[in-house]
Amino acid sequence: MGRLVDKGVIRKLGFHERAAYYVFSYPGEHNDYLVCTDCGKIEALSIKCPVETLEKEVMVSSGFSGIYHELEFFGQCPACV
Ligand SMILES: [Zn+2]
Ligand SMILES: [Zn+2]
Repeated sequence: MGRLVDKGVIRKLGFHERAAYYVFSYPGEHNDYLVCTDCGKIEALSIKCPVETLEKEVMVSSGFSGIYHELEFFGQCPACV
């Protein structure tokens, strides 16, 4: 698993108490995620990325290029509520 993460094929999402989550990621594609802390289900956020504008501002003000971010929202999915 570690090797795949290094190559950027699989992206590791944040650690939870018991498990790390893995999702596929593709260059040029960007998703933010919802993670169910009960069943471990991961969903891509269906709304437009909320911090796209912020990201551009950060790039301009910091001089960094090619920056990216990932957001993870944690909670209980409809099936677990
Ligand atoms: Zn769930
Ligand atoms: Zn985003």
